[in-house]
Amino acid sequence: MRAIRLFLSFVLLFNLIACHQNEKKHDHIANNDHTTENNTNPSFKFGTWITSNKNKSNEDYAKEFKRYKAGGLDEVLINTGTDPKELERLVPIAKAEGLKVHAWIMAVNRPGDTVALKHPEWYQVSRDGKSCHDTRPYVGYYQWLCPTREESRNHILGLVEGLAKVNGIESVHLDYIRFPDIFLPIGLLPKYNLVQDEELPEYDFCYCDVCVSEFEKIHHKNPRESKNTAIDMEWKNFRLNAIKALVDDAYKIVHKNNKKLTAAVFPYPEMADHMVRQRWDKWDIDEVYPMIYHSFYNEEIDWIGYATKQGVSDVESENIGINTGIYLPPFQSGDELKQAILQAKDNGAKGATFFDGNGLTDDYLNAIKEVKETLLR
Ligand SMILES: [Zn+2]
Repeated sequence: MRAIRLFLSFVLLFNLIACHQNEKKHDHIANNDHTTENNTNPSFKFGTWITSNKNKSNEDYAKEFKRYKAGGLDEVLINTGTDPKELERLVPIAKAEGLKVHAWIMAVNRPGDTVALKHPEWYQVSRDGKSCHDTRPYVGYYQWLCPTREESRNHILGLVEGLAKVNGIESVHLDYIRFPDIFLPIGLLPKYNLVQDEELPEYDFCYCDVCVSEFEKIHHKNPRESKNTAIDMEWKNFRLNAIKALVDDAYKIVHKNNKKLTAAVFPYPEMADHMVRQRWDKWDIDEVYPMIYHSFYNEEIDWIGYATKQGVSDVESENIGINTGIYLPPFQSGDELKQAILQAKDNGAKGATFFDGNGLTDDYLNAIKEVKETLLR
């Protein structure tokens, strides 16, 4: 049972590469001016990521949401496989139980995207010349679209807009908003039987014709001919900026629809930059949910506080809210989970979000409720 739960979590599990093929995962809020929200709602909020099941009835969802609310949760981040209709079904059910809803989308990694799959040229290409369309790095669900090419980025932005139009959501929540992992978390390497002491060409993206030509227009050199791409800062920065440009455009779209933009991101900006070419402290975004999954990095519970504090201080001047993402499988007890929540709270997070709903046992929901009661005192 525990093995099954672990497996399911990994799947969903964000962004970080989890295990096996065929899995989807999650790398991973709302509208109104967040300044106002910060001023009027000082309380610490709790949430969970979940993936919807179209065969699950409205009544069963009402029960699930009621249980979360009774356990102290304030919001759910729902992956509907980028289906606005499914989101329209679930939003009123969650809101009736008192939960806010965020529309979680796998943004740049789009496994099984039937529209994108008709356009092989939309996919990212590795330094060794292989396209994610048919050669997937690490796992079968790694099917990454080029963030530079106009057609593929417009496809992603169109999907963001479709979700942004759904009434009642708080935010469009970007997940997998980055490049494929150039370095996997150290705790996951044994699972893949990998050693990554340097940037390896098969995990280094995107060297498609459009990325190379756009880079050449600015820098007059071809990254395919670089002797050591790992120390080519222009090439690295070009890719950081490609993701930033996509996020900034998504921000305009969701705000036009009176929603917020949020994202599931790597633990703190320097780490995100190093591992997945993601520099979220520079984005136009309302709130982020760093996936501070200590076991992925062979770290202890206090590292959740360390990483939270780093992210909070990096975006303080931008007024971007931080919600600490907590990965449930490594916890042994409700008391341990309470420690993690307090690490997040005491280091400046405005909330804690759990991965994922399936892992929220009665024991954990009790722990969350108890912490919440102490915080409200
Ligand atoms: Zn490209």
